[in-house]
Amino acid sequence: MSRQRIPSVPVQRCGRMTDAESGHFMQAAWDAVKGRRGLLQSAFFPVGFSLTVYLSCCLPYLCLDWLCPRVALLRRFKILPHSKVTRALVWRCFCKIVSNHVCLVFPLSLVHWYWNPITLPPLAPGVPSVAAGVLACLLLFDTQYFFWHLLHHKAPWLYHFAHREHHLHTATFSLMTEDTGAWELLSLGFFSTLNAALLGCHPLTQMLFFVANIYLSVEAHSGYDFPWSPHRLVPFGLYGGARHHSLHHISLKVNYAPYFTHWDRLLGTLRTDDMNKQKRL
Ligand SMILES: [Zn+2]
Ligand SMILES: [Zn+2]
Repeated sequence: MSRQRIPSVPVQRCGRMTDAESGHFMQAAWDAVKGRRGLLQSAFFPVGFSLTVYLSCCLPYLCLDWLCPRVALLRRFKILPHSKVTRALVWRCFCKIVSNHVCLVFPLSLVHWYWNPITLPPLAPGVPSVAAGVLACLLLFDTQYFFWHLLHHKAPWLYHFAHREHHLHTATFSLMTEDTGAWELLSLGFFSTLNAALLGCHPLTQMLFFVANIYLSVEAHSGYDFPWSPHRLVPFGLYGGARHHSLHHISLKVNYAPYFTHWDRLLGTLRTDDMNKQKRL
């Protein structure tokens, strides 16, 4: 019975890209994930997954924030070395993020879960399919957020209504990533959910995109510029990252894209100067 009903349309599209050689590891990983079927198909999974991944991505940076005033070496990698992340600030952000997840994300994910329950296909996607799917979702999200963000800075009433809350912080730090108003949080959630559905991604690809999306958002707000930061690993200045987004929070007039630099470059809003040149903005 299950053999006939499980392979839904998106499954077949992505499963077709799996071959016996490259898909072996992915199949084992997917089988392990599917073993948690009860958890994955629970109504609480989307909100629990989102909150757990977010807090897990923030935790290492929060430890660095605690260490930073005590370890001079660490301050060399902090974009704004004199900015402080206080306990009160962390607690305020934590409460806001938990309440946003409980009051906004959970009711909406419940509706989504009811109308569109997750299906767990038997076949895993291949590694190239996962990599291409995650990259395509990130590029699409980057485009959607760039234009959303630009619009919300150019229209004063939109800025005050929907985006100003995120700009209460001039110096970025990890936990403020999702310190946003309801409209911004729901818009970003809608974009990321829509992209995976539009591209017909396998649920495993979708989960990995969510993880990558949350990690890269947190990294962009981390306030640290390490030699291994993504913008230093991606060549030709194609990726913005933490320094890029820090400049946005300082000037409000540049660097609207969350990750990549091509949209800002094309529309003349890219700023890559060192922080000590900020006075010219
Ligand atoms: Zn931001
Ligand atoms: Zn902004």
